[in-house]
Amino acid sequence: MDTGGTAVVIGASMGGLLAARALSETFARVVLIDRDVLPAEASERRGVPQSRQLHVLLARGRQELDDLFPGLSGELSGAGAPLIDLHDDVHWFNDGYLMQRAPSSLIAIGISRPRLEHAVRARVAALPRVELHASCEVTGLTTTPDRSRVTGLRVRPRGSEGPDERIEADLVVDAGGRGSRTPVWLEELGYPRPAEENVRIDVHYLTRIYQAEPQFFGGLSGVLVNPVPGTPRGAVAGVQENGQVAVALTGMGRDEPPADDEELARFAETLAAPQVAEVIRTGTPITEPARMRYPASTRRHYEQLARFPEGYLVFGDALCSFNPVYGQGMTVAAMEAQLLRRLLAGGAARRPKLAETFHRAASRIIDGPWAIAVGTDLRFPEVNGRRTLKVRFVNAYVHRLHRAATSDPALGSAFLRVLNLIDPPTALLAPRTLLRVLLGGRGATVSTPATAGIVASG
Ligand SMILES: Cc1cc2nc3c(=O)[nH]c(=O)nc-3n(C[C@H](O)[C@H](O)[C@H](O)COP(=O)(O)OP(=O)(O)OC[C@H]3O[C@@H](n4cnc5c(N)ncnc54)[C@H](O)[C@@H]3O)c2cc1C
Repeated sequence: MDTGGTAVVIGASMGGLLAARALSETFARVVLIDRDVLPAEASERRGVPQSRQLHVLLARGRQELDDLFPGLSGELSGAGAPLIDLHDDVHWFNDGYLMQRAPSSLIAIGISRPRLEHAVRARVAALPRVELHASCEVTGLTTTPDRSRVTGLRVRPRGSEGPDERIEADLVVDAGGRGSRTPVWLEELGYPRPAEENVRIDVHYLTRIYQAEPQFFGGLSGVLVNPVPGTPRGAVAGVQENGQVAVALTGMGRDEPPADDEELARFAETLAAPQVAEVIRTGTPITEPARMRYPASTRRHYEQLARFPEGYLVFGDALCSFNPVYGQGMTVAAMEAQLLRRLLAGGAARRPKLAETFHRAASRIIDGPWAIAVGTDLRFPEVNGRRTLKVRFVNAYVHRLHRAATSDPALGSAFLRVLNLIDPPTALLAPRTLLRVLLGGRGATVSTPATAGIVASG
């Protein structure tokens, strides 16, 4: 359905690109604006500092991207990014328990963030109605005199000393990331700011790329160790395009992964999985270690605002930025893109209150992944927040599930389907699953660093 008109998107990272894809079906012209120089090659860039960190595209995210860009994951795997069965090709150490592997339909793709963004950008740039304006900073919004409707943007080309230019738009989408200026702009226009939830987690990331070797991960594609209370350290490592392996280590608070080779290997040796330290000790590094600190998960409740201008909505990390260890951000952005696509196809762009409808429905999309991320983080005494009875019950239950999943692949599958945002968190409480959790897990052992090698290869 073509409504004509112009839509403008602030930010051409994954969120903005996916929003533009959705908008391109109904708007005659879609303009994507980013302050960065957008590299011709797949490379990191300043506006997306996390692009140097390992990114996992969840199975749901891969499905949604393939729906938005038919054949994308096939194209990427043909170009050397491996498809990975998340249940069968990965060693999962959850709370120290090694999950029993089994073939599944949970297929992820081993790909670096710059390579994925580059491929998606190429697909979006090839859409006939989309224009990409790089090196262009959005400095504010323009509105009707009564400020009830956003009519466009003020922009300043990078390095320009002159006055701001204006871009007219029928709809503006803010996909400017967690540093989004929308709360400030709303206030300047006389609207209330959204309520903001911040869950302080203080996570430190360190990612380094190595040359892949056939013996890494015992011949599988990767390994994951989740942080546990008392040892809030974790790791994800896996194969990627160009015969590379990415290793990401995380710590919380003052427990920062060290950049020195020997100390980094020792840090990894404190984890339940021996496979991570093996890559660090024996692998050939291709990059220097890249660090990043992530202070807090942040959710902005635009859906609760009684007043919000027409012709404007907020998308992606600007709405909600999750603790990255759960790998949810890109997948949630893809789910929001599908939501926007559905609303626009139903004629929502021609009706008032598009933002209200979108923010409400996006909030329901966010509820599940937010509950997973924040609920799990509340296991750590370092994290502030209300530990309701429900949160404590779910965390104790999921711990038992991990124990039983050492010998019951149906439980591993149930857990991974929720983690990959295929099923809602409530699916873990289905009667059959509950029974297996309660009855299973006898004799399961925790893989401590000393025994991990034996357990993992057994
Ligand atoms: C350490 C780390 C690891 C992560 N790992 C994963 C993972 O494993 N899996 C996953 O799915 N997600 C992960 N994420 C989250 C993921 O990176 C984001 O969810 C994803 O990039 C979508 O964000 P976005 O496009 O909404 O915002 P961003 O990626 O932050 O992009 C915002 C864009 O807007 C531009 N911009 C901002 N303001 C302006 C302005 N005023 N004018 C012009 N341009 C502007 C910026 O240049 C940038 O390009 C991780 C995040 C971090 C921090």
